[in-house]
Amino acid sequence: MSKRIFDNTEVAFALKSNSELNRAYYLFKMIAYEPLVKLGKWLTHFAIKAKLPVDGLIRATVFDHFCGGVNEKDCLPVIDAMYSKGVCSVLDYSVEGKANEAHFDDAMQKIVEIIKFSANKQAMPIVVFKPTGFGRFYLYQKKGEGKAFTKDEEAEWNRVVERYDTVCRLSKEKDVEILIDAEETWMQDAADNLVTLMMKRYNTEKPIVYNTLQMYRHDRMAFLKNEHEMAKKEGYFLGYKIVRGAYMEKENERALELGYHSPICDSKLATDVNFNTSAKYILDYIDLISVFVGTHNEESCYLVMDLMAEKGISKDDNRVWFGQLYGMSDHISFNLSELGYNVAKYVPFGPVKDVLPYLIRRAEENTSVSGQTGRELTLLSIEKKRRKMLV
Ligand SMILES: Cc1cc2nc3c(=O)[nH]c(=O)nc-3n(C[C@H](O)[C@H](O)[C@H](O)COP(=O)(O)OP(=O)(O)OC[C@H]3O[C@@H](n4cnc5c(N)ncnc54)[C@H](O)[C@@H]3O)c2cc1C
Repeated sequence: MSKRIFDNTEVAFALKSNSELNRAYYLFKMIAYEPLVKLGKWLTHFAIKAKLPVDGLIRATVFDHFCGGVNEKDCLPVIDAMYSKGVCSVLDYSVEGKANEAHFDDAMQKIVEIIKFSANKQAMPIVVFKPTGFGRFYLYQKKGEGKAFTKDEEAEWNRVVERYDTVCRLSKEKDVEILIDAEETWMQDAADNLVTLMMKRYNTEKPIVYNTLQMYRHDRMAFLKNEHEMAKKEGYFLGYKIVRGAYMEKENERALELGYHSPICDSKLATDVNFNTSAKYILDYIDLISVFVGTHNEESCYLVMDLMAEKGISKDDNRVWFGQLYGMSDHISFNLSELGYNVAKYVPFGPVKDVLPYLIRRAEENTSVSGQTGRELTLLSIEKKRRKMLV
């Protein structure tokens, strides 16, 4: 595989006007500077608490770069523009930190609407939700630890199961694939069991329900093989989004504090090897397991492309998708799509205040993953030069 395909900045940024290109360039320049991100985070929290009118400022900077809009309809121009280049969208309702029954019901209703909306729109073949969007973190944790629920908690858990069942059943009915994100390890066991149950129920003819494997966890290959054995025995399909994992610092800190061995691989290299091994394993068993490769890592994308060619899997085979986040790694998404691969970008949306935790994570990630920011900046300045703009 020629390792230069992601360098094509003309394809990567075809949808960006000169002023959008400039905005992205200065945004990445700003968030590459850690003290500025820390200050920005503090000031934003302060301004929101003090009810200062900062929505406009947030919208004009990070929000419009990393989010599609405040509601689904707002996202339509973004969805249509990306689809004109063959890139699909996964609408991601990114409101976080609201843990009550009314909010969980609203979140489920939102996913139901998105599934119905997606059923009639080729640009949106996949939907997503987050386990803690449908139930309390504490409940998942208690369930996963095998502790007995109170009567009220039992009823509350049954409602969580019902919410999963409602959206997964509808996804099957409407033939829209549904991804379920993965979160912290100490709540994930209960979520995993629930997703496996949904796969058994709804992946009977093909994979509709996809769980997420965080390959920074050293136990995930064993988990995958075990799930594979079970699916073979019981006769249903598997779907997995593979990612490296977003909660590394939190995981390591908790393990240290509570004195247990960290569930995270010992090094970045070990995570990379684990991620690539999972991709290879799934492609070896593609007749049973489908994959959504969620990564901004070029090497992993090249590897999957090579393996697909080696195994004679066509580029547009519906069992293999690549995914990146909106506002990041357009050079991967648009160049993959240009070559005919299936690509979908997560497009987060929600009221400005409510998606702040998501936006702060993106800013911090782009500060800490210095390679990623450097890469974005380099490509943006190459494209600015190519367009003969002032760099
Ligand atoms: C479409 C999409 C969906 C996603 N969904 C989820 C999700 O459901 N759950 C979730 O947790 N994350 C999710 N993520 C985020 C993802 O897990 C990564 O945090 C992010 O994509 C960066 O990893 P990478 O593969 O893109 O690139 P890279 O930059 O190559 O990898 C960075 C990642 O490597 C790992 N890493 C870094 N340093 C070390 C170290 N010293 N030791 C061990 N590991 C290390 C960390 O996971 C870090 O995030 C998603 C990402 C995408 C693109």
